[in-house]
Amino acid sequence: MANKKTYHIIGAGVAGLYTAKLLKKKHPRSRVIVYESAEKIGGRCMENFSQSLDCRTDNATHVVLNCNALTRNLIGQDKFVHKIRFWDLEKNAFVPVWRCLKESRLAVFNTPTPDWRAKLFLYRKLFPFLGLRAYFSAGTLGKDLYLPLVHYADELRLGWVWKGIHAQQDYLSELIFNRGKVTLTPDDVVVSAIDSYAYNRLFGGYDFAYQAIDNFFFRTSMALTLPSAAKMLGLIKAQGQWLFCSPDYAAVTISHVTEKFDERAIWQEICTLRHYNSAFMPRFDRRHFPRATISQDADNNRKRPSSAQTFYKNLFICGDWTMKNQPCCIETALQSARRVCRFL
Ligand SMILES: Cc1cc2nc3c(=O)[nH]c(=O)nc-3n(C[C@H](O)[C@H](O)[C@H](O)COP(=O)(O)OP(=O)(O)OC[C@H]3O[C@@H](n4cnc5c(N)ncnc54)[C@H](O)[C@@H]3O)c2cc1C
Repeated sequence: MANKKTYHIIGAGVAGLYTAKLLKKKHPRSRVIVYESAEKIGGRCMENFSQSLDCRTDNATHVVLNCNALTRNLIGQDKFVHKIRFWDLEKNAFVPVWRCLKESRLAVFNTPTPDWRAKLFLYRKLFPFLGLRAYFSAGTLGKDLYLPLVHYADELRLGWVWKGIHAQQDYLSELIFNRGKVTLTPDDVVVSAIDSYAYNRLFGGYDFAYQAIDNFFFRTSMALTLPSAAKMLGLIKAQGQWLFCSPDYAAVTISHVTEKFDERAIWQEICTLRHYNSAFMPRFDRRHFPRATISQDADNNRKRPSSAQTFYKNLFICGDWTMKNQPCCIETALQSARRVCRFL
């Protein structure tokens, strides 16, 4: 029989939006409503217009490896064109990927001490990655990834902050938002796709430690050229960890930030590897994310949920942080959406 349920998805990051797509495809006659506290969709992948650079950028430059099948299928194989190469700034020369396992680990898990299960996960992916390609975003995540997903929602309510619930025994009966209450019928299903910090503030029980990531964007009048025409470099013995060059700007990412970095020193590193003097300082934008991802170490991994189900029979959870043993990234956010839909 056709399904006529209403699905209330809260959080319009990639996990929430992909859930909307999967549910609508599985149950075309159902009603899917997406609620989002911000005035824009995308969550941590959100695109922005940078006033200081005068162009569009993503919240942060995102890298996806070719072996991340769900993301690759959404973004399109043809966008995975960048070879992953590492550059040693002290030698000012390329170094082989296998000598940069520590740096790769730090970039993927955003912590120097990932849980052993997380490490295993990376090594399973890393060996194929030696010959594989990657995608990195350059103000493109909306177009490439999440904007096409939003059309699957029957209704999108922006500026709706989820503040609480009313329950009758083990069923949610009402959702409380800043803009009013939503009464649930016995058939309605709620999917929480909010981040771990917000979820913990609502329900408790997931008090994680977080890791920061810094992003620096430099706008130059011409696209920068890198050695061997590379567009993406992992940096060794440098303050910056990843350098990305797109037509509009160069971007540098630093994971596991524990100190304040100086944009001039980061720009100097780019000039050093290009064998140029840093005679001028281009326009720049710096973004600091104090809670970029939960710390993906053994302690936090243990605290992550092992299922999409919750105490409430009509409440399910998804989002990158809900996938135990896996890195917090776009791919796991999408996987978590797929897991939720298997229950529904
Ligand atoms: C600086 C940085 C760099 C990153 N680099 C990479 C990378 O290179 N590669 C990669 O794959 N991943 C990367 N990530 C991680 C990636 O962005 C996340 O894993 C992914 O976006 C998580 O999606 P999500 O939908 O699970 O959560 P989110 O994107 O956090 O979505 C949650 C949504 O819920 C909303 N919300 C929160 N509270 C409420 C509430 N009370 N009511 C209503 N709505 C609410 C939020 O506004 C948000 O839109 C990076 C993240 C950051 C911050």
